Amino acid sequence: MKDGSADMHFKIKLVFSDELVCFLQKKPKSNEVFCKIDRKRSIKDIIESKGVPHTETGRIIVNGKDVDFHYIPEGPQTIGVVHAIPPFDVTAPTVLRPSPFPEIRFIVDVNVGKLAQLLRIIGINTLYSNSYSDREVADLAETDKRIVLTKDRGLLKRTKVVFGRHIRSINPYDQLTEVIGFYGLKGPFTLFAICLQCNVPLCHVEKQQILHRLRPKTKKYYSLFFSCPKCEKIYWKGTHHDHIAKRLISLGVNMAEAQRPFFT
Ligand SMILES: [Zn+2]
Repeated sequence: MKDGSADMHFKIKLVFSDELVCFLQKKPKSNEVFCKIDRKRSIKDIIESKGVPHTETGRIIVNGKDVDFHYIPEGPQTIGVVHAIPPFDVTAPTVLRPSPFPEIRFIVDVNVGKLAQLLRIIGINTLYSNSYSDREVADLAETDKRIVLTKDRGLLKRTKVVFGRHIRSINPYDQLTEVIGFYGLKGPFTLFAICLQCNVPLCHVEKQQILHRLRPKTKKYYSLFFSCPKCEKIYWKGTHHDHIAKRLISLGVNMAEAQRPFFT
């Protein structure tokens, strides 16, 4: 018994909040799961071995007190595991995540790629590439302090991923409202504030400077233009803008007044 763990043989009871039951690998009859402990293991490791990514956890409670992911059970006990409750503030320190992020920005996994486009459409800083590996997503999430959005539970179990969300919805617009609601994003949002390809802020550009690049009808009917300083793509408020704005408003997304269509 050199390290004091050779004689560890006991059971703990994990009580998951209802919202976490869907993640449990073996579908339990209730939200209580028993776990045999025969070596020193962090509570993060124990919870994730049952299928629940640490990013989905909002609080871990032992004897009425909050503990962090490093907590090691050393005897029979009951541990409460509570889901992350919206609006979830990634800029405020908590027991589980004492080093918050300075602002909200995302990195989106390839399995929810259309969500990345919609987040950029409403002006939210979002990294996305369909060539990122899971490892690259986790590395970027750590170094760039980004929230990971994915349907991959394994990716969310990586330690480098501090904040993340397992996206529940299927439809991309529903996914967008899910993210807005979960992270309490209030808006008002502005369409086409950043380049949809490059994720960099757009700059106002004089129509005269880009006349040669416009189609005849665009040249005739529109006067306000923006361009991307990186890829030089041109954006303007056209009918496509109104369609997207109408749909977002119908979903309850708070659009800036100037972004609203003339007829909603
Ligand atoms: Zn661009």
